[in-house]
Amino acid sequence: MGLCPCCKEYGDVWEVVFRSLNDRRGVMCFECDTVWDSIADAPDPAYSDFETLMKEHGFVADWKLATKLRQVSQTPPEASSPTSS
Ligand SMILES: [Zn+2]
Repeated sequence: MGLCPCCKEYGDVWEVVFRSLNDRRGVMCFECDTVWDSIADAPDPAYSDFETLMKEHGFVADWKLATKLRQVSQTPPEASSPTSS
């Protein structure tokens, strides 16, 4: 199963904060600009892309306002792994 519903197997997928949308969190593929809500869920069939999302909210798409939090890897991190301190 690929991370990005658009790229399928590949894709540069990141958890992001949309700063122009009151710091709304989301997931975005920087390869094809597809955005969706959560990595925990399968992307909504009605997933959007960054430019459309911004337009819906009356903004011009500005990639500088999508802050990368962390890259989403294909294999999720172990939930129980101890954090290094
Ligand atoms: Zn993609």
